[in-house]
Amino acid sequence: MSAADLSIGGARAALDAGDLSAVELADAVLDRASATEAQLHAYLLIDHEGARAAAVAADEAIAAGTAGPLTGIPIALKDNMVTEGVETTCASQILAGWEPPYDGTAVAKLKQSGAVIVGKTNLDEFAMGSSTENSAFGTSRNPWDTDRVPGGSSGGSAVSVAVGSALGAFGSDTGGSIRQPAALTGTVGFKPTYGLVSRYGLIAFASSLDQIGPFARDVDDALTLFEAVAGHDPMDSTSWDGAVPDARPTLDAGPEGLRVGVVEEMNGEGADPQVLARYREVLSALESAGATLVDVSMPSIAHPVSTYYLIAPAEASANLARFDGIRYGHRADGETVEELMARTRGEGFGPEVIRRILLGTYALSAGYYDAFYGQAQKVRTLAIQDFERAYEQVDVIAAPTSPTTAFKIGERSENPLAMYLSDVFTIPSNLSGHPAISVPAGTDDAGLPIGFQLLAPALGEPVLFRAAKAVESLMGVSARPRLEEVAG
Ligand code: GLN
Repeated sequence: MSAADLSIGGARAALDAGDLSAVELADAVLDRASATEAQLHAYLLIDHEGARAAAVAADEAIAAGTAGPLTGIPIALKDNMVTEGVETTCASQILAGWEPPYDGTAVAKLKQSGAVIVGKTNLDEFAMGSSTENSAFGTSRNPWDTDRVPGGSSGGSAVSVAVGSALGAFGSDTGGSIRQPAALTGTVGFKPTYGLVSRYGLIAFASSLDQIGPFARDVDDALTLFEAVAGHDPMDSTSWDGAVPDARPTLDAGPEGLRVGVVEEMNGEGADPQVLARYREVLSALESAGATLVDVSMPSIAHPVSTYYLIAPAEASANLARFDGIRYGHRADGETVEELMARTRGEGFGPEVIRRILLGTYALSAGYYDAFYGQAQKVRTLAIQDFERAYEQVDVIAAPTSPTTAFKIGERSENPLAMYLSDVFTIPSNLSGHPAISVPAGTDDAGLPIGFQLLAPALGEPVLFRAAKAVESLMGVSARPRLEEVAG
């Protein structure tokens, strides 16, 4: 076994025992990347020098006895997280070549913890998509079947963890972009409660929905990664200023006595029969292990996709106004400032980003604001109230993560609506700001991974991680994809 196949917990033990050095671990992970990148394209940039230097520093910290949980652990970052002096593109031509002058808060915390940043991972341009096909720099491929997408938008991060070209990774989740690719690659993907992880230095897509979170091999590792980046940050005005709920003490408390909500409007209708079968199998396993299943109805979350596709593009149209050719990245020529800006944006943004800006600008325009954006905000409030009522009766809510397993490259790229439906089960907890996690729950007949999703109330991380660990104990950690098929 290569050190690249260790979990974070396993690598920590080996590093602390002196059985493995951080430099050896970094080399194993970089070797794995060299062997798989030509096929998979998980990364937009691999920082060989930075990773080696961080690994040397980590070995010194370990020798000095000052190592923390992530010291020497190779981590990948989605390329919408700004990294000082390291190109950050959001997978967009408009930012190609941009080297940020600062680290985002989550990145700074990871560096302080002694983590080894391997590089920047591929995504759908500005995190808009569910497959990484909207990247301006080429699609990432699913290591379980390279004709298929890894999900998105954080597809590169998911792939890096699935194949061991990182031991853990971070992505961002606005409508499902951590949980859906986690489900499609057999990894664990967690979206924290809105406000627990600072968004300072996360390039904004839809600010009221965006949240940074981890990808990991197992639930324990996901919690370790979350703990490293969570906490109040004065640089993010929406940051939660109370304590971060501690999920460690109850992590292994098991499913006994847990009340698990099964939502009539999120019970997998429209999902692939095999996804549904796995979902029901996990529910019965939980029940047999001592959890109670409770039926709940949440009528206002019946149309999450239409609500989201007004709010998210509206916020995106405002956030993306800053990419004007003056301040960042790409700049086109123009006789006037207006012409320069229009040309820069026309050349720099890809078709999906332009579609979102048009949708959002329309939804916010005078005369349509009340009918579209205002209406969507009302539905969002009703959805939050539905969740609050549900959580009076249950501790967590269960749902499939993605309605299907990984789809073929090209299958949905001409049909935005089909693509948008990928997030029907993940969007509700973005609208409410609540935490949610996807854990592997076996595969379909073709061997493609299936995810099982758990949702909890705001700051409900302790019960969420407890339930996720219970599911993992029942279903097992996902196997690795077969490397012979993805190694070049
Ligand atoms: N797939 C959704 C979209 O395209 C969600 C993306 C995300 O969570 N960043 O907007």
